[in-house]
Amino acid sequence: GIVVTGATGHLGGLVIDDLLARGVAPDTIAAVVRSEEKAAHLAAKGVHLRIADYARPETLAGAFTEGDRVLFVSGSEVGQRVAQHAAVVEAATKAGVGLLAYTGILGGPDADLRLADEHKATEELILASKLPYTFLRNGWYTEVYTANLPTVLEHGAVVAAAGEGRVASAARADYAAAAAAVLTGEGHENRAYELSGDTAWSFAEYAAAVAEATGREIAYTSVSPEQYLGILKGAGLPDAFAEILVDVDAAISRGLLAKTPGDLARLLGRPTTPMPETVKAAVKALQ
Ligand code: NDP
Repeated sequence: GIVVTGATGHLGGLVIDDLLARGVAPDTIAAVVRSEEKAAHLAAKGVHLRIADYARPETLAGAFTEGDRVLFVSGSEVGQRVAQHAAVVEAATKAGVGLLAYTGILGGPDADLRLADEHKATEELILASKLPYTFLRNGWYTEVYTANLPTVLEHGAVVAAAGEGRVASAARADYAAAAAAVLTGEGHENRAYELSGDTAWSFAEYAAAVAEATGREIAYTSVSPEQYLGILKGAGLPDAFAEILVDVDAAISRGLLAKTPGDLARLLGRPTTPMPETVKAAVKALQ
């Protein structure tokens, strides 16, 4: 069957919805989740639940069965993920899954930012496992930015330390649909896809899109890495996380997240969702 890990998360949930919309029978789909309670909505759709925690290897023994086509959604506990992901790869190897599709980061081994380290290590573990794999190297979700809209509206400004750097983001649902296409399609074994939006936008353009969607004046305030670190810490972010976000903006200013090779649109068979469209939807959801 098809297995989706991280199924109680945003991306995994969208993948399951996409699979069901494609007509995949719910009882051929298994959702790997760590909280049965949080997955009640998935069980209600007729999807099987397999309870497992990446951090507790013993719980992963029943997560996969031979021949499964698995979407392995990278975990969200930054700093813990190499050990966690190693346990997932080991369980998938023991089970003999038919495909291990992993959500990594745009650029793969060439992604020169701290957030990429755990993804690079995970890709290496998957290659060493000799399992058939697909690397879904995801660029940024536009929702990474729209999640912060209330703060942007409060200050009338988009604040970033990315200079004139551009981000080729796409909607989370676009990445989910690409994953569903890989899980249900043929010919994706042992391939790496560099997934990103069709258009790379600047933060000035992002601010303009928020202004357009809200009818308010929104500026782009470009700050230095040091200033940004202070702002993030001042907002209560843990130091380590604030440093990672500053590092992300530095990478953006170097153009690392601006690549538009078109792999995502090709997997989707349609253009990716333009940033302003996701902004409009996010503004509407706030009203
Ligand atoms: P979410 O935080 O919504 O979902 C993460 C999922 O991973 C959740 O279902 C969570 O389980 C699960 N998870 C985390 N740790 C464990 C664990 N130890 N054992 C089992 N499951 C675990 O993130 P998204 O769905 O939005 O994104 C998916 C992944 O993509 C993220 O986890 C992260 O690796 C990466 N990401 C990518 C971004 C991008 O812009 N490309 C931005 C942010 C993250 P639970 O529901 O129980 O918490």
